[in-house]
Amino acid sequence: MFRSLARKLTLAFLLVAITVALLVAAAIRLTGPGYFDRLIVEQEREDFRATLASYYQDHGSWDGVQQYLEQQRDGPPPQATPQPETTSGSGDGNIPPDIRRERHQLFGLVDAQGVVVIPLLPEFAVGTSVPPDVLAQGESIEVDGQVVGTILTASRPPGLNPAELAYLQRTSFALVLASVGAVLVALVVGVLLARTLTSPLHALTEAIHRMAGGELEQEVVVKSADEIGELAAAFNQMSQEVARANNARRQMTADVAHELRTPLTVIAGYIESMRDGALAPTPERLSVIYAEIEHLQNLVGDLRTLTQADAGELKLNKQSVSSGELLQQAFAAFEHQAAQKGVNLEMEVMEGLPPIEVDEGRLAQVLGNLLSNALRYTPGGGQIELGAALDGDRVTLTVRDTGPGIADDDLPFIFGRFYRSDKSRSDENGESGLGLAIAKAIVEAHGGRIEAHSEGKGRGSMFVIHFQPAQ
Ligand code: ADP
Repeated sequence: MFRSLARKLTLAFLLVAITVALLVAAAIRLTGPGYFDRLIVEQEREDFRATLASYYQDHGSWDGVQQYLEQQRDGPPPQATPQPETTSGSGDGNIPPDIRRERHQLFGLVDAQGVVVIPLLPEFAVGTSVPPDVLAQGESIEVDGQVVGTILTASRPPGLNPAELAYLQRTSFALVLASVGAVLVALVVGVLLARTLTSPLHALTEAIHRMAGGELEQEVVVKSADEIGELAAAFNQMSQEVARANNARRQMTADVAHELRTPLTVIAGYIESMRDGALAPTPERLSVIYAEIEHLQNLVGDLRTLTQADAGELKLNKQSVSSGELLQQAFAAFEHQAAQKGVNLEMEVMEGLPPIEVDEGRLAQVLGNLLSNALRYTPGGGQIELGAALDGDRVTLTVRDTGPGIADDDLPFIFGRFYRSDKSRSDENGESGLGLAIAKAIVEAHGGRIEAHSEGKGRGSMFVIHFQPAQ
């Protein structure tokens, strides 16, 4: 019926309840009766002292005191000194004669000279002298400011009357009742708590089993904000992340296969025709084949870079570099192509920029990707601007063009792998759909950030890279 954790929790609760009940019982056993006896002895002694004091006051000596006390004891019950209901449960009047006698024998009386008047047997018989150290432990009786005697108290327990015994029994019964109640409460609370704790764990275990069986996207209900709630929320997050990563991996594999197929088909087609003698291997045809092979090499290189970046293993040969120089090199590399296409390439570098710590080769690759995109999408007569400036404490590198811009719908996805906003342009001009993904991976491996802005389709695009300056 219980899962193991539930059983353990319930048992722990029960154990605590039983231990507490036992400890309380033991404590009451150890201190209870002794305390009760002491209380009775103290009350009896107080009565005794009052009776003796009034006797001495009336008679001026202890003569005849023992007979007086015996008369009182064996005669009709005296007017009892009221006792608290809580301790005895009844007045002195209910004490049976044998117990009353036993209680009187608890006390002895010594006169002012230290001679025993009422015996405390077996040690102190009438007429014997009591040593001063024993006298010092007794309780003195004073009449008119004079010590007229001392009461000695025996160390044995007093006999208990039926009312007192009943009181003790009632206390024990109440204790047993309280213990049983505590055990029941512990049982109920333990079972409820265990259920509350284990039901989300049970749901989590089932979800994990389903994940292990291949259903990666799982969601358990988060019922509480405690540690188990946090665990459930963390699990949901993890499950979503695993499912997302798995989809991305699947998509990537499909995209890679697709990207490889086109150049391989072209190469295979040409070579087959040449082997069969249908086509002559002219330098032009071999150049086409070579271009496709180069495309494949670039693709493999790009994939390798991305894989290394994903694994955090991208090797960066960082150096302190001037951003102006970086832009200048990129400018020089694309100047000719831009001129050929009739695109105006401009560059603006802010004065006094701090150097940045980057891998020059990798950064050239990033700027190359951004510039070749800009050049690809900007029509003749358009303009491309390269810029380096300071934004707060960060150095920003900008590539802005007057091309068609990027639609709002595409903007969040263009840094994704194999993403092309115009799917029909696939593979045209060697586009792999990896250029921006690589740029992002390299920039982020440097601890920088890259973002794309576009005012909308037809209004140009701007790519901005932010770098922390070199320390
Ligand atoms: P591709 O190899 O297809 O250019 P990228 O990762 O470099 O792949 O770019 C992804 C997509 O982002 C492109 O297909 C294009 O739609 C869009 N894009 C990138 N740069 C520009 C730009 N300068 N102007 C307009 N669209 C751009």
